[in-house]
Amino acid sequence: MRLDGNTMAAEVRAEVRSEVAALKSCGIAPGLAVILVGDDPASRVYVNHKQKDCAEVGIYSEEFALPADTAEDELLALVESLNNRGDISGILCQAPLPAPLDFGAVVAAVSPAKDVDAFNAFNVGHIMLGDYTFLPCTPAGIMEMLRRADIPVAGRHAVVVGRSHIVGKPMAMMLLHANATVTICHSKTKNLPELCRQADILVAAVGRAGLITADMVRPGAVIIDVGMNRGADGKLHGDVDFGAVEPIASAITPVPGGVGPMTRAMLLKNTVTAAKRQNGIAV
Ligand code: NDP
Repeated sequence: MRLDGNTMAAEVRAEVRSEVAALKSCGIAPGLAVILVGDDPASRVYVNHKQKDCAEVGIYSEEFALPADTAEDELLALVESLNNRGDISGILCQAPLPAPLDFGAVVAAVSPAKDVDAFNAFNVGHIMLGDYTFLPCTPAGIMEMLRRADIPVAGRHAVVVGRSHIVGKPMAMMLLHANATVTICHSKTKNLPELCRQADILVAAVGRAGLITADMVRPGAVIIDVGMNRGADGKLHGDVDFGAVEPIASAITPVPGGVGPMTRAMLLKNTVTAAKRQNGIAV
């Protein structure tokens, strides 16, 4: 079974659109501030997508495009002004920032209540505790895909390849909270193929095209491919050798059209959550 991220994300957007309409009828208008520093073409594309998604569901979005030589003080002052604006529910700063700007400093400056990426240490800590407001968009999107596809997690062995702050670590924590038994692998892991073969659910979040080959997959496993690798052919490729793995997997996400669209949809959900909480509505 192919897990179709485009279809699931369209469903999520439709649900968010209804929620936004209901909030607006109570005088609450969710708003997202998107900060883009410099002129990285990929970042520009991501920011455009995020604003298009907001428009589709009725979320107000405002872009702050700053030159690459923006001083850190100036960037932090912008974040502070957005923290204080009542019409802005969520703040997102597109990574990567041009050197020498420090992305960590910006993340730390965003109010935890408006941290719709869930990168701020306050929100990261709450994810560890299993008592959270926001979840990072990519792992949250993956959990939503598993739920929507009725794929059970509890009691299963999940192997997460990759331990980044934005994908691997929070993914492992969310699977753990959902009662999976979790193994985390990384570049220093010695027996990667053997560990991967033990997975009922295998999440590949590495950034190496075709790293996960068919001999690393147990027949019937669920395969979640987070990787986005631009090939010499100009196309996007996942971390999984899709053609060889699909026939033996019970479920698999394609690249493109799998995890990516769900990541985008979760940002909209987080923005609505932020608006609700800022207006005293239970989430
Ligand atoms: P990072 O580069 O931050 O992390 C990569 C991780 O992979 C690291 O933990 C690294 O280990 C590990 N790794 C590297 N090489 C190997 C190897 N040979 N074997 C096992 N583990 C290895 O990447 P991100 O987590 O940010 O992103 C991962 C991929 O997911 C990228 O392709 C990215 O583009 C994509 N992505 C996709 C998203 C989507 O919406 N679909 C969203 C975010 C990311 P170590 O820690 O030891 O260095």
